[in-house]
Amino acid sequence: MAKTFKNFIGGKWVAPVSGRYFQNRNPADTRDVIGRFPDSGAADIAAAVKSAQAGFELWSRTPAPLRGDVLRRVGDILVARKEEIADAMTREMGKVLAETRGDVQEGIDTAYYAATEGRRLFGRTVPSELRRKWAMSVRRPIGIAGLITPFNFPMAIPTWKAFPALLSGNSVILKPSEDVPHTAHLLVEILLEAGLPEQVIQLVHGGEAAGRALVSHPRVPVISFTGSSSTGSAIGEVCGRMHKRLSLEMGGKNAMIVMDDADLSLALDGALWGAFGTTGQRCTATSRLIVHRKVHDRFVARLVDAAERLVLGDGRESRTQVGPLIHAAARDKVEGYLDPAVLQGASVVSGGSRPRSARTANGFFYRPTVIDGVKPGSRLATEEIFGPVLSVIRVGSYEQAVRVNNEVQYGLSSSIYTGNVNLAFRALEDLQNGITYVNAPTIGAEAHLPFGGVKQTGNGHREGGWEVFDFYSETKVCYVDFSGALQRAQIDTYDV
Ligand code: NAD
Repeated sequence: MAKTFKNFIGGKWVAPVSGRYFQNRNPADTRDVIGRFPDSGAADIAAAVKSAQAGFELWSRTPAPLRGDVLRRVGDILVARKEEIADAMTREMGKVLAETRGDVQEGIDTAYYAATEGRRLFGRTVPSELRRKWAMSVRRPIGIAGLITPFNFPMAIPTWKAFPALLSGNSVILKPSEDVPHTAHLLVEILLEAGLPEQVIQLVHGGEAAGRALVSHPRVPVISFTGSSSTGSAIGEVCGRMHKRLSLEMGGKNAMIVMDDADLSLALDGALWGAFGTTGQRCTATSRLIVHRKVHDRFVARLVDAAERLVLGDGRESRTQVGPLIHAAARDKVEGYLDPAVLQGASVVSGGSRPRSARTANGFFYRPTVIDGVKPGSRLATEEIFGPVLSVIRVGSYEQAVRVNNEVQYGLSSSIYTGNVNLAFRALEDLQNGITYVNAPTIGAEAHLPFGGVKQTGNGHREGGWEVFDFYSETKVCYVDFSGALQRAQIDTYDV
């Protein structure tokens, strides 16, 4: 009998008001049930908000360095439990152990970075235009932060959001992806073990109904969402109407450019890792390969050969290089792109089908797929597939490569492989993305730098690094006039 998990609301682990649950299964072997998790709704969110308001009263008055101390202890616990958590994450999400270890490490890095920010959270002191008057700004907590997260980074993304939100003095309601609820459960256990006051964090499991209730609750002024563009649009409409502070991190259609002077062996390693790591289910996955025609044939031949040899299976087995997709619908979506009507004359040169082996028979596996001859502007060249599919586009010049990179609605990450330093720096200016890599694949962000995309990937905010603290705090400006007289800005300043 599978274990039944609960929400964490009001300082207690509680069952959902509806009494309904959903099952969480291992995507590499669906016979393996991880547990039953609450299918929560508006009543659970309402209870969470009530508790989070009490949590905010307490936490917003706790000095920021002490809030940082709690996060440092969270980092320490994550370090101690890294291996065990990575194993549980691979069972739940499917990506290989090296990657779930990296996912936990990102949480550790984020915890330690946030901890030190507790002793910064800089405001500014600037000269006043008037005599005997000080002018300065400080950072203030906002209130309850509602966090809605996707499945692909079950630990890293909740920590990217929760740790800076908490460090800034907000209380948190976390609504994790219904595909990876167990990792969120472990994270909340760790926050409590580290000494976070109980009502400061609430965990509400569930899917769309719980997410909608959180987004539309009038007492939740801050919403941070990472997920698909369609969900982000729906959330944006509600938050716009309600004047909420909203951070959106959404889809990508990231390209790697391989120029004719590139180190092809290096680019090959990058393409394999960028396109098929996490089974292509990264927001920064390499989804397009833009190759110079002079090296196209040679490079694609090597790519196909290497892709064919990647080993699929359970990510907890050491020989596995590519795990399953997250669920049946994700695999169906990938298969839809292999339809001749969608291919429009492009050719599948590797993969293009489900594997046939006993090791993969009970999971949502799909072979690493390379599609050559993709036309710029076609669906394969512009839509986020979110699976192990790489669209190859041949170009004749740097200028054409830049044009192809830039002609999609998304703008998360890009990369260029070249030995020409001038071209590399031009690309940093020309490629319309929030992140550009030189001689590295489209993935590899570090926790202490801002992360996010331009165009329709986001709405202008950044996760990570120093910028995220701007999102989770209000700027309060303070003036102190110690002249003992009424001084009128603008008027008395230039009194003649
Ligand atoms: P998804 O949009 O299906 O779900 C994300 C979350 O939103 C889940 O918790 C879900 O329950 C919730 N949700 C669904 N409908 C909702 C609604 N109407 N209101 C409120 N919440 C709702 O995304 P997913 O399939 O879990 O994740 C994959 C997507 O995430 C991809 O598009 C990927 O590019 C994107 N992603 C982006 C980044 C980034 O930083 N840009 C990072 C990781 C993933």
